[in-house]
Amino acid sequence: MERLFSVTFRLGDSIRTKHYKTEKSALRNINKWLLKHREEVDINASFFSGSQGHLSFNAPAEDLQTDQTVDFYKTKAWRALRLQALEYYERRCVCCGATPKSGAVLHVDHIKPRCRYPELALDIDNLQILCEACNLGKMANVEIDWR
Ligand SMILES: [Zn+2]
Repeated sequence: MERLFSVTFRLGDSIRTKHYKTEKSALRNINKWLLKHREEVDINASFFSGSQGHLSFNAPAEDLQTDQTVDFYKTKAWRALRLQALEYYERRCVCCGATPKSGAVLHVDHIKPRCRYPELALDIDNLQILCEACNLGKMANVEIDWR
């Protein structure tokens, strides 16, 4: 009898199970699925591997790598936090009060720059909303807390 790998794909409340013949194809399809839904936050794929036990994934493999390197702004963690910050600070420039309604493009800015304070990169207290004009006026090497 052929042994199959049953993978459980969960996206929010929706759960699907698929079967694959090899562990490799299970992993490949999990990664493909995670890439396709990379904007989602509440996502998980898991299966039981004979050699490694229960495996669970919530980000595509390339995201796991970029977390540590340059592509910080593409990571799921940053994108989720960015949305949270926009909600929390009410989508308005903390410096001049501009909003998307008044035509402003809003940036989520690190008060203490990420290059010198990597530990604060995902700290919502280190974030502020600035419109493009105000953000460009702020030098990257000057720490200004407009709040
Ligand atoms: Zn502004």
